[in-house]
Amino acid sequence: MNSIQCIDCGTPYPDSGVPYCCIRCGGLFDYGDGISYNPTEFDQNRKGIWKFGTDLGIGTIEEVVTLGEGNTPLLETLVDGKEICIKCEYANPTGSFKDRGMAALVTVLRNRNVKTAVEDSSGNAGASFAAYAAKSGIAARIYIPESASGPKRRQIEAYGAEIIPIGGPRVNAALAAMNAVRTGANYASHAYQPFNLLGYATCAYELVGQLGRAPGAVILPAGQGGLLLGMAKGFQAMLNSGAIHAMPRVVAVQPETCAPLVSLMNGEPFIGDCQTMAEGVRISQPLRGAEIVKQVLDSKGCIKVVSEAGITKGRHELAKLGFYVEPTSALVWDAAMQIINELPEPIVLILTGSGYKTRD
Ligand SMILES: [Zn+2]
Repeated sequence: MNSIQCIDCGTPYPDSGVPYCCIRCGGLFDYGDGISYNPTEFDQNRKGIWKFGTDLGIGTIEEVVTLGEGNTPLLETLVDGKEICIKCEYANPTGSFKDRGMAALVTVLRNRNVKTAVEDSSGNAGASFAAYAAKSGIAARIYIPESASGPKRRQIEAYGAEIIPIGGPRVNAALAAMNAVRTGANYASHAYQPFNLLGYATCAYELVGQLGRAPGAVILPAGQGGLLLGMAKGFQAMLNSGAIHAMPRVVAVQPETCAPLVSLMNGEPFIGDCQTMAEGVRISQPLRGAEIVKQVLDSKGCIKVVSEAGITKGRHELAKLGFYVEPTSALVWDAAMQIINELPEPIVLILTGSGYKTRD
């Protein structure tokens, strides 16, 4: 079992309840000592992410909540003579990588006897939470901006989650969720809760298994950076156990208009209007921004930015290879083309979300 502590005061995560932040000081919870990678506990008879340990390192659980997440395809292709591998995370049950994290989080909720929980996302996280909540019999209430429409909202509604539309900017939906939490609601936040990171770590384990070696570099979009942080923890755990011998370089990609990680790295205030078609990474203040920058630098990776034209071109180029993704996922293509000659092979692009989810 991996231990969770507050990153500010060290208070451990309690044995009951599902607080989203430290009950003593309000700090973020994280696996500060890293997570463990134990191949002796792997079970090839189990499906998807759950073959990497019966409890994924969550602790004692009696019942796993799963929709068959994980075990996504890895396709290899040559671009300008370079070996590029495409990890199709959009092939997860609700059409995005978020399912790995939500399977872990909702498993925790279920095993801690949570009956209702709230979230604030009109995007992939909201859709994923709604699906896993439906599967587990947890009543989901999701705060979304009044203006949110399109396939993701319809997907959330289809799973039967209660939708609460909130007027004004995106942040108002988060504030409304927070108000509900203050009056006793459980907050199934994909950004605050640490459990999702264990699910994302399985993407690293699976990737190394499929490649038969460690990637040279991994390129992925970063908003709140959960996938990046979870995969970095996974690679670090494999490195510690001797399963791989070097950390892959981690390349985080953000849109030009919404690149707070670049500002953080340069020690500058973030200025940007976050008007981008890459709605999945429209995050101006990533909660774990400092940790993302640290992981990128420790891995000798970098942060790349991509223009809106680059996103459109990336979507087109990927589609021509047979990969239909949403704009957020397409960020990785342009970034890869910018630095393809600087990265060690194999270079892995993570395609995070399905093209079917794209708003008209
Ligand atoms: Zn604390």
